Amino acid sequence: MKHLETICVQGGWQPGNGEPRVLPIYQSTTFKYSSTEEMADLFDLKKEGYFYTRLANPTNDAVAAKINELEGGVGCVLTSSGQAANFFAVMNICSAGDHIIAANAIYGGTFNLFGVTLEKMGISCTFINQNSSDEEIEAAFRPNTKCLFGETISNPGGEVFDIERFAGIAHRHGVPLIVDNTFATPINCRPFEWGADIVTHSTTKYMDGHATQVGGAVIDSGNFDWNANAGKFPGLCTPDESYHGITYTESFGRKAYITKITTQLMRDLGSIPGPMNCFLLNLGLETLHLRMPRHCENAMTVAKWLKANDKVAWVHYCGLEDDPYHDLARKYLPNGSCGVLAFGLKGSREDAVKFMDSLKFVAIVTHVADARTCILHPASHTHRQLSDQQLKEAGVAPDLMRLSVGIENVEDIIADLSQALEGV
Ligand SMILES: *Cc1c(COP(=O)(O)O)cnc(C)c1O
Repeated sequence: MKHLETICVQGGWQPGNGEPRVLPIYQSTTFKYSSTEEMADLFDLKKEGYFYTRLANPTNDAVAAKINELEGGVGCVLTSSGQAANFFAVMNICSAGDHIIAANAIYGGTFNLFGVTLEKMGISCTFINQNSSDEEIEAAFRPNTKCLFGETISNPGGEVFDIERFAGIAHRHGVPLIVDNTFATPINCRPFEWGADIVTHSTTKYMDGHATQVGGAVIDSGNFDWNANAGKFPGLCTPDESYHGITYTESFGRKAYITKITTQLMRDLGSIPGPMNCFLLNLGLETLHLRMPRHCENAMTVAKWLKANDKVAWVHYCGLEDDPYHDLARKYLPNGSCGVLAFGLKGSREDAVKFMDSLKFVAIVTHVADARTCILHPASHTHRQLSDQQLKEAGVAPDLMRLSVGIENVEDIIADLSQALEGV
């Protein structure tokens, strides 16, 4: 296998003789054929080829191939957002009457998706505390449970997910482990190496890295044995009448799960990213291996500085040695975690607002994980749908500020934080 750095730069698009060196943007919905028969062969699955961008597009495919290679999977599907990626990842193996289990520390948008919207579709979710014992977590399983879900590094709480332990639990119950690897990126953690079966991403974050496109990805390790649990996964192990009567596990083997996402979910639900967005995502990926270490280094310096400041009440960053997640971070994220840290100020809620409003180039934005340092107050922004109790359960203190440390010069970042703290 090539090194990750090389895959970032050169993976995916492989031009032939005389073709563009740089990934071209195939900004076309459709593809031309010279005879009815050629087109019919595509529909009959006798031949492979492009015919409609909702099902496949060369630009999108090249970027999906790069992300697949970075994660070490058998296939990847790009989606129009991280929300769509997590929805597809679960929906691909669930239908009304099913049940899933997810860590309660996950991103607020995913928490709503699982707890509210899936519920309306007849799929229920039990949220577990990822620090609970195996016994407590296993007690959440039911005969109709179809997957276990967590985030490598939770957004925004910064909790590190014990992937190997959760893979063991999931597999003992005959279901796959799905891991949202958005914050770590494959540069810092590759969940398949620890037993995860499916990985998802919001490519909107570090993968893009410049805040230019909203996108998502689902990657299949190919390792989960659907047939060994065929009764649980009829969608993969029995014929799909809407798709030529094909049985995915029979026809596509280790690529059964990822093929079903494209041919069934994407066909019917249609959440593809535009080719232009995939082009922008690819540009971001070309420097992911350079940006991640700098994000981590800057975040570590800022975390230590905040921790030493007497106006700061607490700092959560798994890179800090006394952080509750430091041991898990050393195991799963030995080269660094991410640039996002959380902290709270001593004093009132108004002090936090005053601090945020006094920042000069550290911008208040609903975003994280791009090149520019930014800050957010989840209780009044991303997580405002959650009750105080749900906030607490999700590991989001009402005074928590989420700082996404960028790749500027760290002295300038600290100078801005420092002048804003002075006014508090
Ligand atoms: C942002 C985010 C999402 C949602 O992704 P969008 O691209 O905003 O739809 C999902 N999971 C995590 C961990 C995220 O940070």
